[in-house]
Amino acid sequence: MHDLNEKKDALIAAAKRCFDLRLQTNAGGNLSVRLESADAIVIKPSGVGFNECTRDNLQVVHLDGTIETSDYKPSKDLDFHLDLYRIRPDINAVVHCHSPWATGYASAGIEIPCLTVQTIEKIGRMPLIPLSPQGGPQTDKEISPVFQDTNVVAAVLANHGTIGVGSTLMKAQYLAEIIEETAHIAFVRDTVMAAHGKTAADLPQYGTAADARKAG
Ligand SMILES: [Zn+2]
Repeated sequence: MHDLNEKKDALIAAAKRCFDLRLQTNAGGNLSVRLESADAIVIKPSGVGFNECTRDNLQVVHLDGTIETSDYKPSKDLDFHLDLYRIRPDINAVVHCHSPWATGYASAGIEIPCLTVQTIEKIGRMPLIPLSPQGGPQTDKEISPVFQDTNVVAAVLANHGTIGVGSTLMKAQYLAEIIEETAHIAFVRDTVMAAHGKTAADLPQYGTAADARKAG
């Protein structure tokens, strides 16, 4: 675990950035990063805010679920984080926030549209994951099947929050930002369209830059 402190410092910085950007208040959400050994992660424990992460309170958890000695309780999100690392070797970081615009969309049962050129190119689709069949919060049983598709890098949990994954913590955190930004843009678009009596038929059709080059 020669990279342990480096990974802890990166996670502390990412958590602070999410907090400063108001993607996550100091309660709820979670983020984690895989250690270079590939069989263990660093994760924020339960009861520690995004703005309170330190080298001393972050937990090290092995992919088999073994938690290194810690004074803190594991997060209830731990299981879905671990499972994402198990099923996707390409995932080295997971950022999960309860950001308001995206969570609002998901709670209305509406998938956030990838309506900007950036999201079409970088994300493609942000699947909406409904509550568990029992009505409880999503667990690995609902989340992992969606991420079995290796094209999926972002998803939104109804009545809960967002998930961004990536090969680095920075990439996963950017996704948390882009998901929220896109939900905000979608809300403005839909509100302005409704105010001006426009419908989906009035929207331009567009694709990626590669599509445009092909067409041209
Ligand atoms: Zn959560």
